[in-house]
Amino acid sequence: MGGMARLDALADRLSRIVGAGSVLTDPAELATYDCDGLTYHRATPGIVVLPDTAEQIAAIVRACAADGVPYVARGSGTGLSGGALPRTDGVLIVTSRMRRVLEVDAANQRAVVEPGVINLDVTRAARPYGYYFAPDPSSQQVCSIGGNVAENSGGAHCLKYGFTVNHVLACEVVTPDGEIVELTEGPGYDLLGAFVGSEGTLGITTKVTVRLTRLPETVQTLLAGFDTIERAGEAVSAIIAAGVVPAAIEMMDALSIEAAEAAVRCGYPPGAGAVLIVELDGPASEVDSQFARVKELCAEAFEIRVAADDTERGLIWRGRKSAFAAVGRISPDYIVQDGVIPRTTLPEVLARIDALSREHGVRVANVFHAGDGNLHPLVLFDGAEPGAGERAEEVSGKILDLCIEHGGSITGEHGVGIDKAKHMPRMFTAEDLDTMQMVRCAFDPAGLCNPGKVYPTPRLCGEVPGRRTGVHPLVESGKADLF
Ligand SMILES: Cc1cc2nc3c(=O)[nH]c(=O)nc-3n(C[C@H](O)[C@H](O)[C@H](O)COP(=O)(O)OP(=O)(O)OC[C@H]3O[C@@H](n4cnc5c(N)ncnc54)[C@H](O)[C@@H]3O)c2cc1C
Repeated sequence: MGGMARLDALADRLSRIVGAGSVLTDPAELATYDCDGLTYHRATPGIVVLPDTAEQIAAIVRACAADGVPYVARGSGTGLSGGALPRTDGVLIVTSRMRRVLEVDAANQRAVVEPGVINLDVTRAARPYGYYFAPDPSSQQVCSIGGNVAENSGGAHCLKYGFTVNHVLACEVVTPDGEIVELTEGPGYDLLGAFVGSEGTLGITTKVTVRLTRLPETVQTLLAGFDTIERAGEAVSAIIAAGVVPAAIEMMDALSIEAAEAAVRCGYPPGAGAVLIVELDGPASEVDSQFARVKELCAEAFEIRVAADDTERGLIWRGRKSAFAAVGRISPDYIVQDGVIPRTTLPEVLARIDALSREHGVRVANVFHAGDGNLHPLVLFDGAEPGAGERAEEVSGKILDLCIEHGGSITGEHGVGIDKAKHMPRMFTAEDLDTMQMVRCAFDPAGLCNPGKVYPTPRLCGEVPGRRTGVHPLVESGKADLF
């Protein structure tokens, strides 16, 4: 059977599982799903299916496995590394109809939710009990918990509270052979830990038990304007070195302030080369004393504003939260980069990024989670100008090289996806990558679950392109088996 006929037959079978109204094959409807937040990679999915239950997802996965058809899970499609990029020869399994908060168990500080539940809706459900869900990606009004789990998403407040992985207690998962299993914390190998952050390559989560965090007694927020980004970077290092653990420390440079100002009129200190947002939360007595210390450590700032209430706090955060989208006001196109460096190297790396920007004539706006050294350089270009996209890509790649050179990483929270698979060999040896592939093969020997993502040229479990021809060193030494 040819590819199209095979997909048509599969669409019929999927209709019998979920009902005809939940299977999309009309090209106009499929086009809605042709990319995630990384819009310059696009592919129209062969079939889109919108299941309601874990059992339906298991049956869909079994149907795909029987036909050897690849499939990709999708939550809200806000990912920034192309993780949910569909396959034209495959099925896109979208969880947007699985949005029930199944249980809020305040006494045990946990909630059980379906994978399509929006991040902020967990907090909305928990707030009446005095709790919230701590991981707070800037996309939290739209992104799904399933996507957060797959990407191990972070956010402004993850500096103090940890990433998604620190807030997931169990996941119900449909494995690539179509079984429904429960991964939990506990004795034995940390399979839950392997699953969180696996970018949809080890299975599809259908139910997530999350940890709830007590709402803090008090929150204090300040905005500090600095003449230069180096001074702001030094203040970040000084705050952390002083043993203060703020809930968040965010930094924006002059170009990103300009963009945010144009978009949302956030009223940040005029003429600032950089601003820092520092937020502390916790018991009032502790926050009060640490906040005073933070103000002292920001002594190089030419202006410090303290939020008097939630409205003023909202105003301070407005500029930061809108920063990615705001850059669209000052540039027709941009690449959102995501790299990590040790905090202490912030001033040096920022100076090197500035030098790269000048050398290549490519503007770079810097917005980042400064406290955990997670940079988000926004590399600006005009796609209509010949060669501009390529120059921006080059600068973007060189920024990642800088991160690796300084002992950091090619991604902090947006994941590898399709976008950074090519950069993985810059961080890992061929043996490292093969070993990671063996973990993947243990879950998904047929290589049908989100293939082509994360790893550059998968070779171990028959994924195209290119099988490994030689024997893997771990197999040769008798330390591992191929599945
Ligand atoms: C404006 C903006 C701001 C952002 N800010 C942040 C930020 O501060 N921090 C941050 O970490 N990220 C941020 N992101 C990136 C993105 O929102 C997160 O990666 C988010 O977790 C993706 O969730 P989603 O539901 O949109 O997932 P999708 O984009 O739909 O999918 C992401 C990945 O998860 C997989 N997946 C989805 N559902 C499941 C499931 N049920 N089981 C298994 N795999 C699944 C997909 O296959 C894909 O690989 C931002 C994005 C935007 C557009």
